[in-house]
Amino acid sequence: MKSGSSVAVYPGSFDPITYGHVDIVDRTLAIFPELIVGVANNPSKKGIFSVAERIELISESLKDRKGVRVESFEGLLVDFCKERGAAVIIRGLRALSDFEFEFQMAMMNQRMRPEGETVFMMTGPQYFYLSSSIIKEVVQFGGDVGGLVPEVVNERLKSYHGRKLSGR
Ligand code: ADP
Repeated sequence: MKSGSSVAVYPGSFDPITYGHVDIVDRTLAIFPELIVGVANNPSKKGIFSVAERIELISESLKDRKGVRVESFEGLLVDFCKERGAAVIIRGLRALSDFEFEFQMAMMNQRMRPEGETVFMMTGPQYFYLSSSIIKEVVQFGGDVGGLVPEVVNERLKSYHGRKLSGR
């Protein structure tokens, strides 16, 4: 890791942002003074929210935190990090199922950019089984996700009730 680089990038789909993501952001900010939340703009992965909407919901959810900015990126994450002078990639770890994929990605990123590091943050136990996909499943059938997503997201999701939620 390049010494002196205190900018971290937290990449993901954030479709939509949940309190699990927010938990990782807060844990990261306790260690790194500057964090870029990077919303992956992946045309082959259609979400329920557009990238612009996701950015809006993340910005609103994190508006009280200092040192955070939200951006979208396309293409390789390592290139985005390089452009932003960030040496650290943050990923959240939940149940065991995350491990294999995350490990594979971290290895590949390390190969492409040896001077960068992936740092894994452990989620709080209350968010261990929380994911954007389970939120979408529940909302699709009219379930209540209050307390699991920021209020602004909850409100927005309510407008989707009864519609088919596609995505991952
Ligand atoms: P991706 O499509 O890149 O997996 P996500 O938005 O699903 O995007 O997740 C982004 C990152 O946040 C991943 O590292 C994921 O493991 C982490 N994450 C998502 N939900 C939680 C949670 N409840 N607790 C901890 N980390 C989480």
